[in-house]
Amino acid sequence: MKRALRAAREVPYYQSRLSQLNDWRDTPLLPLGDFLGNPVAFHHHSLVRRQPVFQSPLADAGKVAVLGTGFLDTDQVRTFRFDWEEELAAYRPDTIAGPLDRVRKIAIDMYAGRLTLPALERAVVVFTGLRDGMMGPGDRDLLWKAFRVPVYEQLQGFNREALASECDAHEGLHVETPNAVFEPNQGERLLLTGVGGTEYAFLRLATGLAAKIEGGTCGCGWTGPRLMGLRAAR
Ligand SMILES: [Zn+2]
Repeated sequence: MKRALRAAREVPYYQSRLSQLNDWRDTPLLPLGDFLGNPVAFHHHSLVRRQPVFQSPLADAGKVAVLGTGFLDTDQVRTFRFDWEEELAAYRPDTIAGPLDRVRKIAIDMYAGRLTLPALERAVVVFTGLRDGMMGPGDRDLLWKAFRVPVYEQLQGFNREALASECDAHEGLHVETPNAVFEPNQGERLLLTGVGGTEYAFLRLATGLAAKIEGGTCGCGWTGPRLMGLRAAR
């Protein structure tokens, strides 16, 4: 948090607001609209935008097709931006990963018989978050009916860095502590402080998301904070 506070002091939005502040615990809440309406005011000159690398929630996701994002291609990961349908079928991915609206559209087209893809072997990874929105109550069921493989949710930040990821145990999302610090506010509403993986410096962003932050050991054996029942806040 100290690192985040130091970086925040150097961006235009906070220059006057934080001049009197000595303790990061006193930092004011940042309304989401303030950030989305003027992201340039939070841009930090020395926080470099890195091309995001797909972080797989499975130990072995096989061949991964990532839809419509700026992820780095690797031996096992290929990004499909445009004109992807035939190409995607020819690639024969084991896992499809992408923003909620893209994955949902493919699922709807497959379920309606308008699109045929070779069967997936491993998983569907759904990117949710401040850019992509949150899954609704019928989404998991639709994705299961269309793809017949487990669904993993990955909450992403403004540079598509993973903020929290669902694991094999499917018991909430592991918080990716190098990238994100979540704090509860007014019950289960989540505040987010960006501490890495993004070129923006912001503190206590009111995300519009809600979840219970739980410690202890996950069913997969991992120990650390998890977001339980993650959803859009009402
Ligand atoms: Zn786990």
